[in-house]
Amino acid sequence: MRQCRQGECRFRFPAPAGGAEGERCPRCGGPTDPVGLPYSGQRAERRGIPAGGPAVEALLDNIRSIYNVGSMFRTADGAGIRHLRLAGITPTPAHPRVAKTALGAEQSVPWSYTPNGLEAAVALKERGYRLWALEGGPRAEPLFTATGLDGPPIVLVVGNELAGVDPAVLAECERVFYLPMQGEKGSLNVVVAFGIAAYFVRYRLAGF
Ligand SMILES: [Zn+2]
Repeated sequence: MRQCRQGECRFRFPAPAGGAEGERCPRCGGPTDPVGLPYSGQRAERRGIPAGGPAVEALLDNIRSIYNVGSMFRTADGAGIRHLRLAGITPTPAHPRVAKTALGAEQSVPWSYTPNGLEAAVALKERGYRLWALEGGPRAEPLFTATGLDGPPIVLVVGNELAGVDPAVLAECERVFYLPMQGEKGSLNVVVAFGIAAYFVRYRLAGF
């Protein structure tokens, strides 16, 4: 960390130790001093696949933002989602900026692409997967009271940032879940919603 020496600025910001970078305040241009403690670089403990939780995959249908897709790869890596099925306009890791945002998770999370999300949903359903959509509407149940997590593999179905899940895909889903919202907005950022749901579904029954 470095901190600006100017009394009225005192901007505190991260900068690599020992280099010239950060010697000038990015906010006011004044001189800075190294301050604080070095970052530990510690990461969360790695855990194996917990016993008791269901196998979970996800269908990311018509996600527009490359950053969202990259973040979802990283989320899937963390939560132990075993396969990401990308469909429609969802950019794949073939796009360099998806890979950049995924920070390597596109290597560790198996993925596939299909141009038609509805056909992908129908095919997964026929193979015995349980399709669970993240969406509002009359069928939606609150995620945190979900029962029946154990059983056949679950596919979390996530749709477009603005339009949500394709209604025809939604009709193929066994269940629909929403996240409780306390504020003014009707929905969360798609990556945040996916992250909460992925962790809940994967770890709710996990044995630790
Ligand atoms: Zn400053």
